[in-house]
Amino acid sequence: MESALTARDRVGVQDFVLLENHTSEVAFIENLRKRFKENLIYTYIGSVLVSVNPYKELEIYSKQHMERYRGVNFYEVSPHIYAVADNAYRSMRTERRDQCILISGESGAGKTEASKKVLQYYAITCPASEHVQTIKDRLLQSNPVLEVNMYTKPGIIPFASPFGCPRWQGAPVGGHIINYLLEKSRVVHQSHGERNFHIFYQLIEGGEDDLLRRLGLEKNAQQYQFLVKGNCPKVSSINDRNDWKIVRKALSIIGFTDDEVEELLNIIASVLHLGNVQYGGEDSGSAYITTETQIKYLARLLGVDGTILKEALTHKKIIAKGEELMSPLNQEQAASARDALSKAIYGRTFTWLVNKINDSLAYKNASVIGLLDIYGFEVFQNNSFEQFCINYCNEKLQQLFIELTLKSEQEEYEAEGITWEPVQYFNNKIICDLVEEKFKGIISILDEECLRPGDASDITFLEKLEDTVGGHAHFLTHKLADGKTRKVMGREEFRLIHYAGEVNYNVNGFLDKNNDLLFRNLKEVMCMSENKILTQCFDREELTDKKRPETAATQFKNSLAKLMEILMSKEPSYVRCIKPNDAKQAGRFDEVLIRHQVKYLGLMENLRVRRAGFAYRRRYETFLQRYKSLCPNTWPNWDGRLVDGVSTLVKHLGYKPEEYKLGRTKIFIRFPKTLFATEDALEVR
Ligand code: ADP
Ligand code: MG
Repeated sequence: MESALTARDRVGVQDFVLLENHTSEVAFIENLRKRFKENLIYTYIGSVLVSVNPYKELEIYSKQHMERYRGVNFYEVSPHIYAVADNAYRSMRTERRDQCILISGESGAGKTEASKKVLQYYAITCPASEHVQTIKDRLLQSNPVLEVNMYTKPGIIPFASPFGCPRWQGAPVGGHIINYLLEKSRVVHQSHGERNFHIFYQLIEGGEDDLLRRLGLEKNAQQYQFLVKGNCPKVSSINDRNDWKIVRKALSIIGFTDDEVEELLNIIASVLHLGNVQYGGEDSGSAYITTETQIKYLARLLGVDGTILKEALTHKKIIAKGEELMSPLNQEQAASARDALSKAIYGRTFTWLVNKINDSLAYKNASVIGLLDIYGFEVFQNNSFEQFCINYCNEKLQQLFIELTLKSEQEEYEAEGITWEPVQYFNNKIICDLVEEKFKGIISILDEECLRPGDASDITFLEKLEDTVGGHAHFLTHKLADGKTRKVMGREEFRLIHYAGEVNYNVNGFLDKNNDLLFRNLKEVMCMSENKILTQCFDREELTDKKRPETAATQFKNSLAKLMEILMSKEPSYVRCIKPNDAKQAGRFDEVLIRHQVKYLGLMENLRVRRAGFAYRRRYETFLQRYKSLCPNTWPNWDGRLVDGVSTLVKHLGYKPEEYKLGRTKIFIRFPKTLFATEDALEVR
């Protein structure tokens, strides 16, 4: 028989807290590698599940597997996404507390797959009525619809699809999707190698001939200015055609009427037409529109008056001495007004879509299990406003993780009557404050520069940052850096030292992306639209509201705060997904790529927080049952109180007082090696 030690050598440990050297990243990755080689894609860090995408079908998702995880204790079976799902479900039932499963990782790491596995687990293990089945279908279908909108190459897909259960039957019946950041700037501009949102290509590649004719579109993505900027309109036209069918079908399953779909497609097509609106310049400098055909289509698709639209695309309404004046824009200003309108139309329509899907999933008065699918830290060669937002979001989630993990740790110690031991950890609140603090946080400073008339620019923003937060321990710029660091920093960059590592952000475009302004007269035109979706997106009340609309960063900050509030009220579980290679190949473990993800998913930090207390804990009956044969006094049976039996047993085994604590129902063991020694004793006996 294989000894415990060699089994551990071969397949590693199933919980990273059991690693001998828990601060070593090398040991961490070695453990991942061993398990990956054995097709063991799941490993815990305490109750956090780490998952490595196998890029092949594994025989671990059958109904028998589901049964194996049903109602069993987390630690007593091998790590699995079903264990996380089951645990959340049981906590919801027994504690009546809403749950949330947070799934993070890079694109391709297996987040969507993981949430599908969770949904499938509930679909099989929870009894379902017909109504429930409809909701499930809709929830699963909302994925393709939302992904075409949000999911582009390095895009951002934070959304949650919570899942409700009525208190007594325990069947999932409702859902909700939270949408809080759409990378709107991508509608009008893509960096080299990036695509616009998939839906545009899908419509053009997959749309039926008479549909395209009605929308005035040609079957050629190269014709559209908004689709050629990134120089890669086609990833695969065959997939686009196929995906179009999937999305089209999903829209009807979710419950969109034919009319609604038509209005939706009108809007998507009009964004493409807007991109092709071109300007010429008068001698005076004023812009005029040279592309009449586009205006004709736009007027029809948006349901607005063409003449008024034309004026709004070339003028800005100003109010002087109580009188309204139309002041002509120059070519550059007109082009940016056009882009702003395109982004506003797309962004607001997307929000409408999410709300609509939520209506179709709604179920009141139920406990819920939330599924939050979110990007992990993003670090590219060049990081911009979007990475700044998503990384800030990850700081907030880490903050939540720390608070809740330590809190539940503390609660368990209290419940078990063990004296509280302060846990040493890095509290990243200091970084959250640096970003979000009122008046002196980075977002405040950015907003201030966006508001300031005159010479405000991305560079003055950077300078203001240096003046205001230059002394902060987690902030650095080229100017502030020492000689060595300066070499790796650009003059237009600032660096944040995140809990997961350093990221340099290029300030280029920060002001524009944050500003996201839409001129008043363009809003007015949109409020006149006969398109039923747009009427809901552009509310006349906005026109009477004198207040300046919120900037993108502030909107993001506020919706994050809302999300945190929702999550705080739920009990979270965590799934951290890792992509093993960029080639989508089975069996390939690209160490550099993986080390990068381990770092930016904050896994070492997770482990540190988790290990700060006791590495291991087990209920008395479980512990005694497993090891009672190692001590003559507890073998074959212990008749007294369980705690006394365990105490007798561990004293006999030679546990030192500082190595363990005895609570009300559990033994707490500080170091893994203590437990390993006991395990090994079982084997050699
Ligand atoms: P993400 O949502 O993080 O971008 P996906 O969940 O879409 O990534 O995963 C990308 C692909 O990887 C899937 O289409 C699937 O082929 C494969 N994959 C992910 N997770 C698994 C898994 N647990 N088992 C088998 N294949 C998987
Ligand atoms: Mg996904």
